[in-house]
Amino acid sequence: MPPVQRPKGTRDFLPRDMERRRWLEGRLREVMRRFAFREVGTPAFEHTELFTLRSGPSIVEDMYTFTDKGGREMALRPELTAPTMRLYAEGLLGAPRPLKLCYFGNCFRYEQPQKGRYREFWQFGAEILGAERASGETEILALAHECLRGSGVRDPVMRIGHVGVLKRLLSDSGVPPGEQPRFWPLVDKKDFEGLRAALGERGVDPDPILSVLERRGGRELLEKVPGSGLEEVLDGLESMGVTGYTVDPGIARGLDYYTGMVFEIDVPGLGAEKQVCGGGSYSLAELFGAGKVESTGFALGFDRILVALEAAGAAFPEAGPDFFVVPVGPAERGEARRVVAALRRAGRSAETDLAARNLSKALKHAASAGASEAVIIGEDELGTGLLTVKNMGSGEQRKARLEELLK
Ligand code: ATP
Ligand code: MG
Repeated sequence: MPPVQRPKGTRDFLPRDMERRRWLEGRLREVMRRFAFREVGTPAFEHTELFTLRSGPSIVEDMYTFTDKGGREMALRPELTAPTMRLYAEGLLGAPRPLKLCYFGNCFRYEQPQKGRYREFWQFGAEILGAERASGETEILALAHECLRGSGVRDPVMRIGHVGVLKRLLSDSGVPPGEQPRFWPLVDKKDFEGLRAALGERGVDPDPILSVLERRGGRELLEKVPGSGLEEVLDGLESMGVTGYTVDPGIARGLDYYTGMVFEIDVPGLGAEKQVCGGGSYSLAELFGAGKVESTGFALGFDRILVALEAAGAAFPEAGPDFFVVPVGPAERGEARRVVAALRRAGRSAETDLAARNLSKALKHAASAGASEAVIIGEDELGTGLLTVKNMGSGEQRKARLEELLK
């Protein structure tokens, strides 16, 4: 074993892993492009306060924090919504609204690692700032839905709720708003037994509350959230051809800055770490000195989507070169290099033997490198200008001029 290994909860990505990651990234970027979201980038570390403003002081336990050499309290970003709001407050206040922003970046959390849960992981997300409420929520839900569809994940389950449900149930039972947040993490974890006990201790009858939170269904459940505006959102989704979601009154998202619609997407096959997306409507910009701007957004767990695709045996595109150019002997090496260079300049991907192998070993290497075709260059080829091209899949050989291969 090497004397220094990678830190716990982090991963190295081998070439094949990176190819898959870039492929998925490309698919998600393509969805963002079609929905006309524009990407932003923010630093990997921020002032710790940015995240405690958003999530409260307890977030520090879950973060990588450090004091820099100037004595500043810094944190590696655990998420990208707060940085995006800060970016808005610092650089986009004058921009026409609504703003449709997206991001892709690594995030860091001091968690107990397991499959689908890492200390460094990647989030792909989007935020709409300053839209009319129902229109923004519809757009965000349609985008999240399309991201899952575009990545090819099988059977994702989208659940849509509203933070007003839980708040109203608790208020109706005599729990004032200031006392409510301690119940949210239990709902967020769907720990209904824990919630039952906690409500009991508080002297609240848990049954009417649980009977609502445990229900899932269609839009008939919206009567539990009068005035939520979700009717209009679901109508909007229908117009956009988005179906297959459930209404879930028991979504809490655990944090108190959500102000309206909240939603989650699960891939049930993933087991414990099945949630691949979370989001909703929130009001955060004012915390960063930007005035009140209603926003809606989500973050996708990029790594978990990949785990789901790999578990389902998804067919990732193979990334071998178009051509592997093989000189028959040392005398043809110069010509092989000339051919490789011409192919590359024409935009094709091409490799040549860099290990001075003989023909049969070089062809074996071309196969293991995943080349589509081998181009064999011997004395004959030098004389006639006709190259021998071998299809590495079928083994068939043909003769072709370099100009044909450049197209
Ligand atoms: P969980 O309940 O699984 O910890 P979360 O509520 O902390 O998730 P969010 O903060 O909403 O997650 O982040 C959005 C998405 O990022 C999650 O739905 C999940 O897919 C992914 N995610 C969160 N934490 C991790 C992690 N440590 N490793 C990999 N992916 C993660
Ligand atoms: Mg978490």
